Amino acid sequence: MANTLKDACAELALANRMVANEGIIDAFGHVSMRHPDNPGRYLLSRSRAPELVTPDDFIEYDLESQPARDPGVGQYSERVIHGEIYKARADVMSVCHHHCAAFMPLLATGTDYVPIFHLGAVGGIKPPYWDQHDEFGDTNMLVIKPEEGASLARALGSQWMVLMKRHGVTVAGTSVKDCVFRSIYSARNAEYQVRALTVGGSVASLTPGEAELAGQISRKTTGLMRSWEYWSIRVAKAGGVPRASKKPAKAAAKPRRLRKMRRR
Ligand SMILES: [Zn+2]
Repeated sequence: MANTLKDACAELALANRMVANEGIIDAFGHVSMRHPDNPGRYLLSRSRAPELVTPDDFIEYDLESQPARDPGVGQYSERVIHGEIYKARADVMSVCHHHCAAFMPLLATGTDYVPIFHLGAVGGIKPPYWDQHDEFGDTNMLVIKPEEGASLARALGSQWMVLMKRHGVTVAGTSVKDCVFRSIYSARNAEYQVRALTVGGSVASLTPGEAELAGQISRKTTGLMRSWEYWSIRVAKAGGVPRASKKPAKAAAKPRRLRKMRRR
């Protein structure tokens, strides 16, 4: 495995564990990245709890969300969310899809997300809403068909976060670190916003000018790296990320039961 790909897989495994460790994703939800050597591909873990993802777990997908080779393992069903956003947005290098509890009161009521403190600016001012039912009627609410993912990507437009009514949130980033930063701080903001709404009265938003300037904090200060090292040490305290196996990823990721079945 090339060093760039090896490093990318290590970073992406840490990102999945980090976002899980911070309570943004649980058994469901995932973080992907565009392939470092091929912009027409992306990397997403095989189907497993994000808190357990290792560098060996990543499957390479084309932008139609088809695996580059038979992975021989279970795959996430909502992967078209990632593929269709990478297809629509050349500037997006990482995507996180989650169902964080902090957002659910907003998503159930269709209440707009507003940045109520400087770090909440990473979610934008009133990011777009998308409702799967508008275009597709009754579904099981999972975004599985390419046309469903494409519809979501259209709703995202040029923003960095799209709210999925009665479902969850999808966040895009210019890098894995940027995507993690946006995912965690937008969720913190949602939590504070909902708490503020329960206190009563109107919730004061940053002004568009403040949100624009505050949204640059992660790029223009050491804030992004400081946050990354903070979340990293918290993952380390929780057990860390296993090193990549020296075996080929496909063999390492294949459950014993499947290997037996394939020999039959
Ligand atoms: Zn989902």
